[in-house]
Amino acid sequence: MERSRLERLVEFGRGLCSSLDLEPFLHSLIAAASELTGCETASILEPDENEEQLRFLALPWFHREALKSVKIPLKNSVAGWVFENGQALVVPDASAEPRHFKGADQLSKFGTRSLMAVPITYQGQKLGVLEVTNKIGEAHYTEEDRILLEALACQAATAIQNTHLMNKVQQTEEELAQLNRMKNDFIGIASHDLRSPLGLILGHATFLREVIDPEYQAQLDVIIRNSIRLKEVIDSIANMDDVQSGIASLQTRPVIIKRVIEEVMGSFRQEALKRHISLRADPGQEEMMVQGDASKISIALSNLVQNSLLFSNPEGHVLIAAEQIPGYVKVSVIDDGIGIPCKDLSHIFERFYQVESHLSRKHGGMGLGLSVAKVMIEMHGGRIWVESIEGKGSNFTFILPVSSGQTGETGNVSPS
Ligand code: ADP
Repeated sequence: MERSRLERLVEFGRGLCSSLDLEPFLHSLIAAASELTGCETASILEPDENEEQLRFLALPWFHREALKSVKIPLKNSVAGWVFENGQALVVPDASAEPRHFKGADQLSKFGTRSLMAVPITYQGQKLGVLEVTNKIGEAHYTEEDRILLEALACQAATAIQNTHLMNKVQQTEEELAQLNRMKNDFIGIASHDLRSPLGLILGHATFLREVIDPEYQAQLDVIIRNSIRLKEVIDSIANMDDVQSGIASLQTRPVIIKRVIEEVMGSFRQEALKRHISLRADPGQEEMMVQGDASKISIALSNLVQNSLLFSNPEGHVLIAAEQIPGYVKVSVIDDGIGIPCKDLSHIFERFYQVESHLSRKHGGMGLGLSVAKVMIEMHGGRIWVESIEGKGSNFTFILPVSSGQTGETGNVSPS
């Protein structure tokens, strides 16, 4: 093959890597196809949605208006034969070729005298046809013309396939976003609607517990204990939903961090003892304070401590430590428990994410504790993160700005 033709072909390969837009790329490809094979025109056809007919995907500008909506039948057309059989075809004299479809010529007022067509395929998948018409000077189509056209068809195939894949990815992303919206709506509605009947069950069970014969009290205790557990889960989901929908509010006041730590310590002391885990606090200076909502900071810290106790072995250690850093108060919950595998670290703050499958895990839980903690901390303009080594332990840390900008007020806050 001549050097200049080869260079032009290579140039095209480069274009394919840099071009994101299919249409201009295919138009320059058909221009190159007619130039390199010495033909008057070139075009690309693709199957319609049902693969029953072909239509033009790229045409020279002077035929675009006339031919953009024409349908080429798969039977009784040269392009249709090439598409169906996946083989190149040369038609030296179109007037003598029974498969030649005359409809397009009539519409474009173009006289097709000869043509060569090659299939465009990608890994066995039929994508279309590339054809050139009317070899200038009525010369014969050569073997070299065919090889050239097939090389260009390969490049067209890659470009078309890329576009199909891009469209598919985009469509999948849109479907995922839609599913995510539906999931959030469902979670929101379900959690709010479950709250009231559950409150009634709990209220009535607690009342019955007081008045019932002592021999039935144990059964009511089971109902009450499990209702409380269910209520905690529903409250967690509803809390997050409130933040996500922007209706959650912060009751912002000066909060003494040491007090929050002591309160959380107090509520887990028994559990730590029961599990033979040493629970210690190093709460920093007395006056360390943030502007925030003590109940929400306490929920976040409790969830971290609860996990540390849950994922530590007997004789393990859990430390809650606080310190002042410029502009922030930093609180860490450090344990020497089972740790978290590297691959899970970036996901554990997602809603419902659990390292161990829900079915095989021994620890219960719903995969909500950390996502709730994250939401609570971020509502305050803070940040939360984890460092962990599997088998060695975890260090969950959050920072809260010393001043949130909302003093003594109730403010609606949505997550950033
Ligand atoms: P769950 O309520 O199921 O514990 P979380 O959102 O609180 O859900 O935690 C998500 C997952 O992160 C847990 O299932 C657990 O696998 C892992 N995890 C959280 N904290 C720790 C920790 N301190 N040590 C080891 N793994 C942890």
